[in-house]
Amino acid sequence: MDLTLTPDQASFQDEVRTWLRAHVPTERLASPGTPEGLEQHRSWERTMFEAGLAAVHWPREHGGRGLGPIETSIFYDEYLAAGAPDRLNRLALGLAGPTLIECGDEAQRERWLSNMLSCDEIWCQGFSEPGAGSDLASLRTRGVVDGDRLRVDGQKIWTSHSQFADWIFALVRTDPEAPKHRGITFVMIDRHSPGVDVRPIRQMNHSSSFAEVYFDDVEVPLENVVGELNDGWRVAMVALTNERSSNLNTAAHFERLLGEVIDLVPPERRRDPRIAAEIGRFHEEIEAYRYLTLRTLTELSKGRRPGIQSSMGKLWWSEMQTRIHELGLEMLGDDAELLDPADAPGGFVHRYWLGRAAHIYAGSNEIQRNIIAERWLGLPKGR
Ligand SMILES: Cc1cc2nc3c(=O)[nH]c(=O)nc-3n(C[C@H](O)[C@H](O)[C@H](O)COP(=O)(O)OP(=O)(O)OC[C@H]3O[C@@H](n4cnc5c(N)ncnc54)[C@H](O)[C@@H]3O)c2cc1C
Repeated sequence: MDLTLTPDQASFQDEVRTWLRAHVPTERLASPGTPEGLEQHRSWERTMFEAGLAAVHWPREHGGRGLGPIETSIFYDEYLAAGAPDRLNRLALGLAGPTLIECGDEAQRERWLSNMLSCDEIWCQGFSEPGAGSDLASLRTRGVVDGDRLRVDGQKIWTSHSQFADWIFALVRTDPEAPKHRGITFVMIDRHSPGVDVRPIRQMNHSSSFAEVYFDDVEVPLENVVGELNDGWRVAMVALTNERSSNLNTAAHFERLLGEVIDLVPPERRRDPRIAAEIGRFHEEIEAYRYLTLRTLTELSKGRRPGIQSSMGKLWWSEMQTRIHELGLEMLGDDAELLDPADAPGGFVHRYWLGRAAHIYAGSNEIQRNIIAERWLGLPKGR
């Protein structure tokens, strides 16, 4: 593994750093859940689009920069280090778009890709259902072919961004008689269609970052099916592989988080040797994680699937993230129980702690442990 950047990579890093320094908004953007915040985030996405930086990992012919995994990771390291906003249309840029590029047809790419890049249309992911999360193939939302359309009935849950999204890339069951992985179809559903009802879920941490989505006889043109009817599991796996490779949880992200937690250490505890040792250990863990991600990038840049390393990486970053927040909670002291998370300094620690969602999304940590146990350690398959 060669860790030095090539001259081209170094000059790209320079270009991105300079651009970000000049353009990243100095004020923190409002939540995209508010009309004001949504407009601010859209406007930031448009700025990125106009600079040709909306999706650097997409092929050039589809509006990207055609960059490989290493250059893409350089881009996001710089992006995070610059304190740039979360990507509003990340489900389009990271999942739906690359899936359309790989599995869609020309008309579909023409219809949707450009509006993903410009953020004129925002996307959400309709996979999970009340009885189908880790066991996704158990999903029951029905899609019945009726002439040139599908009629969709059922319910999705935990659908992030659905409150303001325009499109849902969804999995529906089109052949209930087939074995469960075979009767599924991947389809693009207009979120504004009659019969789509989005009901936000109010979380313990006061936010509402996801919703339940109900479909009541929603008509979807068959031309919105990606791949073939009943071939949706294969297409979904393409989407999920892209989700893992477009992971924004880089070492730079955790350095930024640790920096924010260090800012919460009260002056009288700055010389506490235990706190100093904990902070030192987090720096080491972040460094170890950096090398783990570099190994994954090496695999990806050689055209190989990262395999077990994605599971190890997911476990490593999510558990480290929780422990860094734990240190933040300790620093907040009694305030940690009383904070109004909307505006208090350190509110990000409180908000994270009430959800600890990182252990669940992108494949729960128990499922990652199963994968490591079965595929790497050769332990017997769990039930
Ligand atoms: C913040 C957040 C955002 C999300 N956004 C989206 C989204 O935009 N779109 C979408 O489709 N979904 C989304 N999800 C849903 C997410 O994909 C599911 O929550 C996840 O797949 C787990 O499914 P579940 O909630 O049904 O839990 P379950 O699968 O019911 O699991 C419950 C518990 O049992 C454990 N468990 C389950 N099976 C096993 C097993 N075989 N062995 C050991 N332990 C097991 C799990 O690890 C978990 O702890 C989001 C979730 C979160 C937290």
